[in-house]
Amino acid sequence: MRQLFGTNGIRGIVNETIDCLFALNIGMAYGSFKKGKIAVGRDSRISGLMLKDSFISGLLSAGCEVIDTDIVPTPAIQYYIKDNPSVKGGGVITASHNPPEYNGIKVIAEDGTEASMDEERKIEEVYFEKKFNKANWRDTGAYSTLNIIDHYVEGVKNVLDLDSIKCKDLKIVLDAANGPGSLSSPIFLKDLGIRYVGINTNIDGTFPGRNPEPTEENLEMMQKFIKNGRFDLGVAHDGDADRSVFFDEKGRFIDGDIILSIVAKYILEERGEGTVVTTVATSSSLKDVVEEYGGRVIETPVGSIYVARTMMETGAIFGGEGNGGLIFAEHQYCRDGLAALGKIIKIMVNENKSLSELVDEIPRYHIFKDKMAVKSIDDRKDIIEMIKKTYSSDERAQTENDGIKIYYGEKDWILIRESGTEPILRIYAEAKNEKRAKDLLDYGKKLIKNGIKNNYV
Ligand code: MG
Repeated sequence: MRQLFGTNGIRGIVNETIDCLFALNIGMAYGSFKKGKIAVGRDSRISGLMLKDSFISGLLSAGCEVIDTDIVPTPAIQYYIKDNPSVKGGGVITASHNPPEYNGIKVIAEDGTEASMDEERKIEEVYFEKKFNKANWRDTGAYSTLNIIDHYVEGVKNVLDLDSIKCKDLKIVLDAANGPGSLSSPIFLKDLGIRYVGINTNIDGTFPGRNPEPTEENLEMMQKFIKNGRFDLGVAHDGDADRSVFFDEKGRFIDGDIILSIVAKYILEERGEGTVVTTVATSSSLKDVVEEYGGRVIETPVGSIYVARTMMETGAIFGGEGNGGLIFAEHQYCRDGLAALGKIIKIMVNENKSLSELVDEIPRYHIFKDKMAVKSIDDRKDIIEMIKKTYSSDERAQTENDGIKIYYGEKDWILIRESGTEPILRIYAEAKNEKRAKDLLDYGKKLIKNGIKNNYV
């Protein structure tokens, strides 16, 4: 059967690969087997209103009771669903960090986590077979709107126990990408009495300020602000505010892997032991820190859903990815950009250290990333399989997670994996020594080239 859902729900270019009719049918398909209360929200994209209303219409036609939260951070609606057992599921119209012409649909399970693959397959089945379950007319009108932002901000403050900490001297630069983080993060900072300067903190779905992907290149404005003023840190969200990236007081962009290490270290110091989950692409610095403080690391394929599910299965205390997606088990099993900001603030205040001091305590590795184009999406798999075969009896190679990760010594490694959406292979190489990391990257590229040769000749 054809698939609609990828690792991040459904994504597409508006009115080309995703339109109102599609959103309506997905709403009808979801409602056909998911009865009861369903919460629906969206990010700030200008196509969000039409797609959300279409999706809601589908749910209403199936007889669901719809709670429309409109523009909210993705983790806010996930928190609302988790916190309200009478709500049986949800949908978010979002394309997260993608450019403004994109949008998407993410389905949320009853416990607030991203819908399981089973549930996604069910939606696809009803959608493709057009087995829609339409309700009696009397049952088609249950609709209400609800503002959940305050509830969410309170929830994050409570779980992190932030009311008691003295953070009033902090000065922060906040860049909310003109997305839904513009609604929650300013309230959060004001509540804590923290002074901040906001960049891109008005809702605007054309993203006039910057690309919604919070990479260092897209955050020049933030860097300038910090370098020209006196701030303790800078924080930037992605387009749906489930991620946060940070700058220290010197204006340095902090690698997401280092943020994971800082948070993991703090949590383990508090608890003494525990499991931390991350993906195969994360720096060994996390492993160094976690093991030093009495914990263990479990690696998953790349993708926050794998991290979240593995955390639930193993009872892990913390997890995340190097792209700024942090998951706190005591809060909820999904990425949460506001909780990430709150945790960093709490660590700085409780440890009485600047962010740069916290960063400089973490062991550093050199990591290089590159990508190589292949002829087609199918070729990606064939080439990876070829490399896996070469290493099948080599115990340095790990192949159970995502692509192939080969260790050279205890901490140096190469990872080769498929891109989720494009005909390219991604390659990562990490080592303590910079030259060795570069050499490993070149060696990984050679492995791919040999794979391509064998594949095409
Ligand atoms: Mg996101």
